[in-house]
Amino acid sequence: MRVAPPPQATDATTLPLTEERSRLPRFAPLMLAILVLVAGSVLTWLVHQQVLGAHERSVARQVEQLSQFLADDLATGFATLVASQQRLAARVATFDRQDQSLWRFDTARYLADFPFIYSLAITDDDFRVLSIEGRQPPDVVADERLDFGPALRGWFEGDSGSFGLLVKSATSLSDGRHLLHSLEKIADDEAAQGVLIATYVIPDALDALLSGVFRDVLAIRVTAGEQVVYPHPPVSFESSELYRPNVFEVDLDGDGSSFRFEVGLTALGEQQLGSRLPMAALYGGAAVSLLLAVISLLGLQAGQQARRMAKVNRALNRAVTDQERSRQELAHLATHDPLTDLPNRQGAKERLATMLGETRRSGEVFAVMFLDLDQFKDINDSLGHQIGDRLLQAIAPRLAGLLRPDDFLGRHGGDEFLLAARRGRRDEVEALAADLLAGMERGFTVGDNRFFISASIGIAFYPDSGESVDELIQNADTALFKAKHAGRNQYAVFTREMFGHARHRLHLSRDMRQGLERGDFFVAYQPIVRAGDHRLCGVEALCRWKHEKGYMVPPQEFIRIAEDTGLIGRLGQFVMEQALIDLADWQAISPQAPWLSVNVSGVQVRESGFAEFLSVLLHRHRVDPQRLHLEITEEILIENLARNRALLEDLDAIGMRIVVDDFGVGYSSLAYLKNFPVSIVKIDRSFVADLAQDAEDQAITRTICSLSADLGMETIAEGVESIEQLAMLKQFNCSYVQGFLFSQPVSAEAIGALLREGVPWSTPTV
Ligand code: C2E
Ligand code: MG
Ligand code: MG
Repeated sequence: MRVAPPPQATDATTLPLTEERSRLPRFAPLMLAILVLVAGSVLTWLVHQQVLGAHERSVARQVEQLSQFLADDLATGFATLVASQQRLAARVATFDRQDQSLWRFDTARYLADFPFIYSLAITDDDFRVLSIEGRQPPDVVADERLDFGPALRGWFEGDSGSFGLLVKSATSLSDGRHLLHSLEKIADDEAAQGVLIATYVIPDALDALLSGVFRDVLAIRVTAGEQVVYPHPPVSFESSELYRPNVFEVDLDGDGSSFRFEVGLTALGEQQLGSRLPMAALYGGAAVSLLLAVISLLGLQAGQQARRMAKVNRALNRAVTDQERSRQELAHLATHDPLTDLPNRQGAKERLATMLGETRRSGEVFAVMFLDLDQFKDINDSLGHQIGDRLLQAIAPRLAGLLRPDDFLGRHGGDEFLLAARRGRRDEVEALAADLLAGMERGFTVGDNRFFISASIGIAFYPDSGESVDELIQNADTALFKAKHAGRNQYAVFTREMFGHARHRLHLSRDMRQGLERGDFFVAYQPIVRAGDHRLCGVEALCRWKHEKGYMVPPQEFIRIAEDTGLIGRLGQFVMEQALIDLADWQAISPQAPWLSVNVSGVQVRESGFAEFLSVLLHRHRVDPQRLHLEITEEILIENLARNRALLEDLDAIGMRIVVDDFGVGYSSLAYLKNFPVSIVKIDRSFVADLAQDAEDQAITRTICSLSADLGMETIAEGVESIEQLAMLKQFNCSYVQGFLFSQPVSAEAIGALLREGVPWSTPTV
């Protein structure tokens, strides 16, 4: 037996599902994003300033160029105007002063050609106005002298060549438009006779002189002295949307009095000449910075998230792998014998069924063999079961070594091995059986001991000795019985005559059925007492059969037959019902009535509706579910883990307590028991038997007691026969004891008497 340490629990709460302790602090992505945004903004602003500076310089250059074109244009236009005026003045000089018709005719044409000319007038050499054509300017009045200041005389008498004089009108028109007088001398070859005055409306003249192309893109303001003479009506810089104005002076007549030109871009000009690059740089830069900030934020967060997810995934994978491993281990346990790791009874049935199916198709000879060690019990009894276990562990590989890879070897229980083989002929199977027996003859070494042990083999051939796996196993068992009786160390093949033995079992099962009907079965109860104070705490119900022929049939014998034939269901029901009736009676005698422990076979556990059946019975007999303990062997427990766990949980939910019976002879892992709602562990009596002498049994028993306590389970030691055993168990803190030291299994009435009169055994003296 081995007591396995509790497996490393894979508890979901221990998974590091909470956040991983990352190398970066949690707020790092946000910090970085802000940093990127700030850096991006600064960079964008710098770039924008650079682009803006370059752009403005380029625009200023263009405006300057355009201004230059404009000034040139104006100069050319004005020069043309002056030239035509000079030609008019020259013609006027030839006119007859008395006849003004030519003058009128000429000026009419002239005024029609230049609509911006407000009036044309002539004076004599004393500047008296002789005639005015066109409209009447405020400061040029017929028959009056011009009042154009001293510069007029200087210019008139001086030699200024063909160049005229420009005089800005002192007054403006009623609508505010300013006038400009352009004077040309009227001269023939000898001397100047007078002055030709062309009066311009300044804004109209400039409109006419300035090129139409520039007008769209350029906004122009002209001032003379303090007065804005163009445009009309005047506009302020703000409302004209002048952009980057360029200022230059134009001195049309070269007399030093100039017009001040301010030229800038109109909205249209700015659109055409300006560039969107600075704004594009600004907006683009801002957008890119924002984008980079968002990307770095998301990127880092995604990175952190990915690391967290990876960690969680790893943890989950580990958990899943652990769970899968423990599931596989449990599944393996259910079909394998823990001692030799060979398939157990359950595993054997599955494999044999497959082999049988294959044989039916191939037409080969198929045989099932039972191999039982001769006098193994003696070794176990004399040297202890630990030695026995090790001997079994040594025998398994010896047998396996003599088989073919597709033959079957399993442990049926105790010292019985189950084998199956497919061969071409029957004598090959018999030869294999002989080889197996011969293989044992070499003996085995276990520790310091050398063992020579023989075996007996029973063989059942398909189909003569059985059509099904169950039949073949049963008949191989019968043949084995024959081999043993024939003197051991030999094999026997199942024959028709051997049906006798099988018939015995058949008879027994028939007798059982009748016995059940006739009431030959009854239940005995064995007290279970608390180790500390020997108080009667519980009783175990043990089934008894008094055959009609008068002898007692041992439970080991009839329970197995009942399980094989399916009678166990009825038998179990009988025991449960009877025990509950008795318990109800004891409860009527004493409120301190003991709890009732009932053995449950694997077949019963497997039956559907078991939990419901129990609840109905408990209800019918008014028994508190807490008072009913169910004893289930460990082997049955792990046989069908998933199903049994569900059932046990149902039973536990109803309130019944689960006791693991015969603990220590099977896989014996307390750690696995933890997975079930087990309340009590019952230590097998084989450990208790030698407790006083055997150090190893002491160690095992002590371990079971202390580990069970650690896992929240109580312990019962069964088969306690001596004071020494009891003393030791108390020392190990075993919770309860049961055995002949206190009482044999007794009748229900005897238990009733104990409750009424008190127990005959003494209270603790040890
Ligand atoms: P078990 O459940 O381990 O029952 C304890 C067995 O140990 C009983 O044998 C009991 O008489 C015996 N025992 C008790 N004290 C001592 C002691 O001090 N020394 C020794 N040498 N033996 C002691 P029993 O009554 O022969 O039963 C044998 C087995 O048959 C039981 O083992 C149990 O597995 C099975 N069994 C008995 N009744 C029922 C039943 O109603 N249903 C089922 N499914 N199995 C039963
Ligand atoms: Mg029991
Ligand atoms: Mg037991």
